[in-house]
Parts: sequence; structure tokens; C-alpha cells
Amino acid sequence: MNSKTKLIHCGRGDQNTEVRSVNPTLMRASTILFKDHATWQKYKELRKTERVLSYGARGTATNFELEKLICTLEGGYRAQLFPTGLAALAMVLLNYASKDAHFLITDAIYGPVRTICELFLEKIGVKIDFLKADASDVEEKIKPNTKLILCESPGSILYEIIDLPKLCKVAHAHNIPVAIDNTYSSGYFLNPLEFGVDISVIAATKYLSGHSDVTMGIVVVNEKEWKNFDKLPEVLGFTTSPDDAYLVLRGMRTLDVRMRAHEKNADEIVEFLQTRKEIKTIFYPKLKSHPNHEIFMRDHKGANGMITIEFTEDFSKDDAIKFADKLEYFSIGASWGGYESLATVTTPPRTIADLSKRGPFVRFHIGLEDTKDLIADLTQAFDSIKK
Ligand SMILES: *Cc1c(COP(=O)(O)O)cnc(C)c1O
Repeated sequence: MNSKTKLIHCGRGDQNTEVRSVNPTLMRASTILFKDHATWQKYKELRKTERVLSYGARGTATNFELEKLICTLEGGYRAQLFPTGLAALAMVLLNYASKDAHFLITDAIYGPVRTICELFLEKIGVKIDFLKADASDVEEKIKPNTKLILCESPGSILYEIIDLPKLCKVAHAHNIPVAIDNTYSSGYFLNPLEFGVDISVIAATKYLSGHSDVTMGIVVVNEKEWKNFDKLPEVLGFTTSPDDAYLVLRGMRTLDVRMRAHEKNADEIVEFLQTRKEIKTIFYPKLKSHPNHEIFMRDHKGANGMITIEFTEDFSKDDAIKFADKLEYFSIGASWGGYESLATVTTPPRTIADLSKRGPFVRFHIGLEDTKDLIADLTQAFDSIKK
């Protein structure tokens, strides 16, 4: 089945009943009832290997349908839902953490991961080294106690690209699992498990939900690594609301049309941005000038609606803030992947790359508005900071 068809036909509940609704039932529950104690025991046993109803906190039928859909889409063995994308990333790190373990994390990882490392992992004795954003220095940084490589490609804010098959080959030669933050492609424009990655993390908060009204994280794992994910979320009491799972399922039915529309709009905005002399660099992986552009084109089915610009030296951070505040259709706010356009002045957090003399940067999320309106808006905002 093609991914586009999976989005429509998978995760829809029991399709073999005589009458049914199009969408799976929304099942809200804490207590699940069993006809007798023997049945209860049977289900407690079954849940060790299967997704079955046993207690609301372990997921209901609605959560299971979402897990099934994302799992088939990513080509994984099992999926697990978390309350946020950050919680999903924290759980991946926690699964491999132990005293004296060593982790490698790529430089363009989602910013708040650094705080998990500083406030928690380093305190319990995990040693962390950062890799270049393109992971080209992985071979020289692996240690005998390296337990996990966590990467992100395209990277946060500047969309740095990693050669995933190459990275996985090196990691697996040392028996190290590779996890990726796949929020950029959201299980659709890139399926990293096909390239050898073991764990894919997606902030469903972004394109999967698509309407800026849910937070959720999803971890999709291959069979080999599933043993590490089996217990911990349950032991720590992580769960997600079935209402949120329902909303993400609903959002995912239109993932193909939305992501392609964001991409088309972003292509048009990039074309416009190339005409503006205020800009020094446009970060958009479909541009030939983007580092590792060929690898992006080789592995990805498309780009999303994210574009970052770097102003020329003539412009200060205050100019960039004035520009962003002047925009009418682009709102100021964290997160992205909804239907609306956003613009934020930002400094990409990097440990290895030195950006101290770069910028100012503005990150856009290109929404589903008419691009003529967006271009007119951008034009008046650029003109307002004319030198
Ligand atoms: C937003 C984001 C997250 C975190 O998702 P939340 O649901 O907001 O916690 C993780 N990774 C990337 C790349 C993101 O953009």
C-alpha cells in the first residue's frame, strides 16, 4: 500500500462489521472491566506482547489505532505515544541512560534536548558529546561505552542534512542504536527506519495534528530495539488522552495534501525571498546551495513549510524583530506545523558550529494562506526596515 493510501485506510478500527462509522470510536477510559478474574489475568499477560485493553493509562482502542497508523507509515514494529514531543525524546534518552554510558547527539538537535542533558543525564553520570550537525565526525567520536546516537535531519532551524545510511552503517558496526527526531518529515517525507535507523521520534504536535490544538509525541521502534521501550513508559506512568489521539488521527487523514501544500507555498516564498537584497542566506534544503542538498533530494519525498533566513550584516537583531512584528499574516509563536504562518526571530542553539558572528535569523513556517498575500505582507515588512 502506498503511504498516501495508508493515511486513508489504516488505523480506522474494525472494518469488518456490518455497520460502522467512518472514524474509529473515541474510547475514553480509566477502568476497563473484565468478565471474571481469569480474563483479567489473561489480558494482563497479553499486554506484555500485544496492544490490548487492560487499563486506561495503558491506552484505549483510540490510542491503539493511532499507534497502528503511524507504525505502518514509518515501517516500524511498535509505536508508543507520549504527552509531548519532548517527553518522547526524553524517554528515548532515558531508555539508554546508565552510569558511565556515553551518548552522541548531533548539533542541530531540537534545542530543549540540551537542557535534558544538563539538568538530568549528566547528573546521573551519562557523558554526552555533540557531533557536527551532518554527523560527518561520528567515526572519530564513538567510544567503547557509546550507547546511543541521537540525531535530527533536517536539523532544527537550519535544516542540516545527515547521510543516514552512512551514519547507521558506522553506528551498527559498533552495535550502537541510532535514533532520529523525524518531526521535520513527520513520518511522511522520510521514513528513516528504511535507511537503517532504529528509532524514529515525531512531535505529533506539528504536522500530524496539523491544527495547532494538540501536543503529542510518538516513538516508532524497530523490532530489535523494542525491548528497550516495552516497560519504561508504563512504569513511569506516561500516557496520552484518547481525545488527543483522536484529533491526531483526524489530522493525519489530510497529511499528504497539507504537507504538499505547505511545500508548494514554501517553494513560492523561497523564490520571492531570493529577490530580496536584505537576505544573506536562505536555509531551505531544496535549494541547490543548501549543504548536502543532493542527499536531501536522494532520501526525501519533499520539503516542509519551514524556511529560515539570515539577514545581511547591515541588519541588527532589533531590525529583525521590527520586521517580524510588522508582519500581519505571520504570527509570533513557538511550534509549527499548523495551517497558519509563523515568523520568529531566533538564534539556533549549537554547541559545535560557531554562529556568534552570524545572523540575525528569522524562522518562518509557511502556512496554507494564498502566497500572493504572504508575499505582499513580507514585502511591506522588508520595506519597513529599509536602510
Ligand atoms: C516541536 C519539536 C519537538 C517537541 O515537541 P513538543 O510536542 O512541542 O514537545 C521536538 N522535536 C522537534 C524537531 C520539534 O520541532
